[in-house]
Amino acid sequence: MLTGDGAYIKKINRQYILNVIFEKSKISRANLAKVTGLNKATISVQVNDLLHDELIYETREEHNAVGRRPIMLSINESAAFFLGIDLDYNQILFNITNLKGDTVKYEKVDLQTDIYEDIVNIVANRIKRYEQEFSHAKFGLAQTCIAIHGTVSNDEMIHFIPSYQWRDKNLKHDLNTRGIKNIRIENNANLAVYAEKVFHYHNSDNIMLLNLASGIGAGIIINGELHRGFHGYAGEMGHMIVYPKGKPCRCGNEGCWERYASEPAFFECANRILDRRVDTHSDVKRLIDKENPQIMTALQSWITDISIGINNIINLYNPEMIVLNSPILKSYNGSLEEINKQLTSSVSYFREIVISGLGAKSAVVGACAFGIQKFLDLPSLSLSDTNNSISA
Ligand SMILES: [Zn+2]
Repeated sequence: MLTGDGAYIKKINRQYILNVIFEKSKISRANLAKVTGLNKATISVQVNDLLHDELIYETREEHNAVGRRPIMLSINESAAFFLGIDLDYNQILFNITNLKGDTVKYEKVDLQTDIYEDIVNIVANRIKRYEQEFSHAKFGLAQTCIAIHGTVSNDEMIHFIPSYQWRDKNLKHDLNTRGIKNIRIENNANLAVYAEKVFHYHNSDNIMLLNLASGIGAGIIINGELHRGFHGYAGEMGHMIVYPKGKPCRCGNEGCWERYASEPAFFECANRILDRRVDTHSDVKRLIDKENPQIMTALQSWITDISIGINNIINLYNPEMIVLNSPILKSYNGSLEEINKQLTSSVSYFREIVISGLGAKSAVVGACAFGIQKFLDLPSLSLSDTNNSISA
């Protein structure tokens, strides 16, 4: 029983106070007492501890017409920095945020190798470089989290990455032996859905994120918690069978959703009917903007296949929010309307379907936010998205 434990109560109060300071951005001690319902003595002790740890700082309010200017408390964004790494095929994204979740550095490294040992060395060397670069901060580079485009077990072992064909890799251990500490390994779709909650949909506790990329992965939040499944492999939505005896899939089955609704499936269909080749998102966007009839036909057929899978998922999960992460859907203004039109079942319910604003950065900024939550030992986290969303 922890109720009577003074240290436990102190920890809960500290978490509560930190969450309110994050949410309000600037708040006086008096208002902090009002919002939290904690007495002034408790606030005073806690605030002094947080000031001593340099996790918050004080400023004088500038715009106050009458009376004394109150002292305001804010999160000290420069106290610690957080690294998110997206280990994709052919490229690695590195993103660093401050303690408030604002991106301060974003770099993309193209890979010339797919050999595991080489890539571990590239990642380790980068992390060491960033540790050096941010060593001026009180807590330096406090946490690193790596997004994996494959299945990751509940004990952070990489089970399988299809694009690399890597099986059973202990990346966390292999980085530890190279002197890298405070590492977390997580599936990319899990980090992406977490980012949507932390940065955009603070009040939604049931969110489904669908990553329509080389395959299809889902990140699922149920009642505010990430749904991982027994081993940690939940969310492999791409492998639900939508066309019995359909196209063969790399998983060994036939007719899997990702053979019809992933990006390669779209390009395959577009290149079959177009008189010139399209290979990139910008090629597709250019043709959509010109309302090229062939690309529109390919898009309609793709959206129909996407909608079949979404219909099944809605029936399974009854999600509040469905967030679609796809640069192709984002480049066509009518995509949500088309999908909604095809979700006609009278038994499937959801509140809203949207396209991700975080896009390709969702996993790396989610990785940074994971680090912040762990570093501050908070039960939940809500951050403002000041500069993480992508424009295209
Ligand atoms: Zn499959």
